[in-house]
Amino acid sequence: MPTVPPASPPQAAGPVTFTAGHHFAVTGAASIEEVAETATVPLSVILQITKRCNFDCSFCSETLQLPDPTLAELDTIRTNLAGVGRVFLSGGEPLLRRDFGEIVDMYSQDFILGIPTNATRGLQYAKSMVGKVAFVNVGLEGPRATTNRVRGDYDEVMSGIRAFLEHGLPLSLSAVVYRSTLHALPFTYQIADVIGAGKLKLILPLRKGNALDLEEHEFISLDEAGQTFDRLIEARAVHDWRPALRMTTWTPETEGHMILVEVTGKASAWPVYDAPDLLEPLGNLLEEPVTEIWKRYRFKRNHFAKYLGKSIRTVANASTAAGTGGHARA
Ligand code: SF4
Repeated sequence: MPTVPPASPPQAAGPVTFTAGHHFAVTGAASIEEVAETATVPLSVILQITKRCNFDCSFCSETLQLPDPTLAELDTIRTNLAGVGRVFLSGGEPLLRRDFGEIVDMYSQDFILGIPTNATRGLQYAKSMVGKVAFVNVGLEGPRATTNRVRGDYDEVMSGIRAFLEHGLPLSLSAVVYRSTLHALPFTYQIADVIGAGKLKLILPLRKGNALDLEEHEFISLDEAGQTFDRLIEARAVHDWRPALRMTTWTPETEGHMILVEVTGKASAWPVYDAPDLLEPLGNLLEEPVTEIWKRYRFKRNHFAKYLGKSIRTVANASTAAGTGGHARA
């Protein structure tokens, strides 16, 4: 198995470690509020290295197209992100960049790296990630028919997943939960178990981009989301599924918890429910360090609560017992 990069984010993020369960945990007795108050940088940042994608998912929030940042610009952003624990090299589809391997090399020395991907270019790039990427997070909404209908070519996704697995890359799956995908969730969890995924992340769609075209009845309520999670926990016990399970819903406790850096370097709190495009601008990482951006960020508590698994429902991986243990209701 390849080695996995740093187990601990820099001290600027406070008393927090990155666990084998693909997430963070507080090491001491500090409360979320204390950790958030003393931190000078974010724990985790989503950096878009492209807006391009070869899929057109029915729920995709990223439909605006802009040029990719150059390697020089990405290097400036890397310098300005100093102290951040984890960076997601995101998109669009990040593996569409022909220089993806160079970007991984550039960022892997300084950060824990997560790669959200549709996996369709997995065969080309799996090797370049070995030993440098902490985990790959593949979007999948269940078996062939559902994934083909709401996301893109299931067989292409699975061939990429096989390539990641053959290279020993730690993997998680992520599924968007709305009316059209509810029935497929137990199969998605089964797939996550069969491929040995560390976790299955469930996320409700945000009303942006393609999701604005979804029929209203596609958006499930918070109660339905909770019942869905409960049913999956029951099925997990019956079938002895191992991957951790997480569900993120959109509540006051999760508002603005992500810091999104777009291809222009613009950093925003995301999602902010009453902001234009759900983005609340914080500054630009081509022009200033993340410490300045952090000072303007008003969702520090939500940021730490989410990444420490306190504002979302979560059950730990049964194999590693990593994570918060038990589950918390948002
Ligand atoms: S959700 Fe991801 S894979 Fe789907 S179209 Fe958007 S960027 Fe591409």
